Amino acid sequence: MAGPQKKIIDFHVHLAQYEPFSDSAYEFYLKSYPSADAYKAFRDKYKNPVEFTGLMDESGVDYAVLLAEVAPLTTGIATNEMIAAFCRGNPRLIPFCTFNPQLDANMGKSLEDLCVKQGFKGLKLYPTYNHFYPNDPAIYPLYAAAERLSIPVLFHTGSSVFKNSRIKYGNPILFDDVAVDFPDLTIIMAHGGRGPWYGEAMAMVRLHANVYIDAAGLPPQKLLEYFPEMERFAHKFVFGTDWPGADMKRNIEKIGKLPLAREAVDKILGENALRILGL
Ligand SMILES: [Zn+2]
Repeated sequence: MAGPQKKIIDFHVHLAQYEPFSDSAYEFYLKSYPSADAYKAFRDKYKNPVEFTGLMDESGVDYAVLLAEVAPLTTGIATNEMIAAFCRGNPRLIPFCTFNPQLDANMGKSLEDLCVKQGFKGLKLYPTYNHFYPNDPAIYPLYAAAERLSIPVLFHTGSSVFKNSRIKYGNPILFDDVAVDFPDLTIIMAHGGRGPWYGEAMAMVRLHANVYIDAAGLPPQKLLEYFPEMERFAHKFVFGTDWPGADMKRNIEKIGKLPLAREAVDKILGENALRILGL
C-alpha cells in the first residue's frame, strides 16, 4: 500500500459489560455465543481495557469512542463513571458521556463538569430508548452547553431490536430544528435513520453543514444501497461498529471493498472523526 497508513477510528463502541443489562439486551447478545458461560467469559475478558485495546490492535483500530448509556428500560446501564474508569489513562479510548433527560436535571451544567473536569470528549443521547424528542426545548440548554464547549453530540436514530425502544423519537427530520437552532453544534446521527429513514438522514446531511451520519449498526456491504450518495458526501460519514454487536476488523475490511474512491474510504474510516474529535 502506498503512503503512510491512515488512522482508523471506531466512533461507536459499547462496554462489553453493563451493570445491569436489560433482559432483552442480554438475550440479544447471548444469541451470538454457544453458551451463557462463553458469553460471560467474553464479558469478563473485555471489561478489562487492556484486553480491549489488544483487540483494537488486532483489528487495526487506532482510536475507539466509548459510549455511556443510561437506558434501564431498553438496554441497561453503563454509567459515565464506568466509561471514565474504562478510558482513564489511555488516550486511544475516547469517552462520551450521556444523560437521560427523564432522570437528569441541569444537564448543561453537568456536561460542563464532565467535559472540563473529567475529560469527556463527546455526548451520546438515546431519544428512542429514553423516550424524548431530540428537538424538545427542554433539552436545549444541554445543546447550548455542548455548542459552547465544542462537544459533538451523537444520537441514536432509527430502529432498534431492544424491547421498549420507541422509534417515533428516532426520525432524522427531528434534527432539522436542532441543526438550525445550534449551527455550531456537531450532530452525528448514529445508524443514519436505520430502517425507514435513510433518505431523511441523507436530507439532513445535505441541508446542514453540522450534521453527520455514523454508519454503525448497518451491514457495510449495504451502505451504498442505503446511501447512494455516500461517495459525494464522504466528508459527512464516520465509521462505527456498535461493538460488541459487530466485529471491528471484518467491518473495516468490508468498507474497504466498497466501490468508493480511496480518499472517500479514508475520510469515512478516520479523517472525519479525527476532525470532529479535534485529535
Ligand atoms: Zn450502539
